[in-house]
Amino acid sequence: MKLILIGPPGSGKGTQARLLSKKLKIPHISTGDILREVVKNKTQLGQEAQAYMEKGELVPDNVIIEIIKERVSRPDCEKGYIFDGFPRTLTQAQMLDKIFKEKNKELDLVIQFKISDESLTKRLSGRLICSKCGADYNLYFKPPRVGDICDRCGGKLLPRQDDKKNVVINRLKVFKNQTKPLVNYYQKQAKIKDIDADKKSENLNQELLQLIDAEVNPNGLPEKQSFPAESAEE
Ligand code: AMP
Repeated sequence: MKLILIGPPGSGKGTQARLLSKKLKIPHISTGDILREVVKNKTQLGQEAQAYMEKGELVPDNVIIEIIKERVSRPDCEKGYIFDGFPRTLTQAQMLDKIFKEKNKELDLVIQFKISDESLTKRLSGRLICSKCGADYNLYFKPPRVGDICDRCGGKLLPRQDDKKNVVINRLKVFKNQTKPLVNYYQKQAKIKDIDADKKSENLNQELLQLIDAEVNPNGLPEKQSFPAESAEE
């Protein structure tokens, strides 16, 4: 099963992709996470990407495509994967189609996360990430039990560098300009479905599973009809 989650920064794609990955037993591929890792490791690619990320701009398409090609060729991707934050431009989507064609594979479904500007602002301004284990929190919706300490591992919680106000404004602008054309592209392929992301994480996850079940693979999901409501903390 090959899924793409599209939505503005802060729409909850990452949290949902992680939950779906566990339930569907296919990897979650976030280009943002991969890029943050290479930046942290100070590789040459990381240094190149950092300059774009700090400004909230997109990393060049050719860099992203190389990352994706390498990632999807790993054995854990054989049964499928969930893309989160990729593709982000029309060129990336076209290049992805080329990769699928070469491998004789097909994209199953694109899910667009729709969310109000008000929720988006709260989600981004309240977001905190554990500097040790990467767990995510939100001061408004999912606060840590104690101060700025991770409930799971005791690591220090920090805002993401690119969640600063001026960078967020640019990321949203970039999303509107560059990522929105993707919606038309996938509409023409009749591959895209919308989901109302303005709701609690557990409810959203249940709706996503139902949507995927109905659209992609009526018989093939593990334990059809019996997905337990799962907490977003996991
Ligand atoms: P994200 O965590 O998905 O919001 O991504 C964080 C940042 O990484 C973005 O603001 C971009 O600078 C960069 N990035 C992530 N994915 C892509 C992509 N598919 N194409 C270009 N840049 C990306």
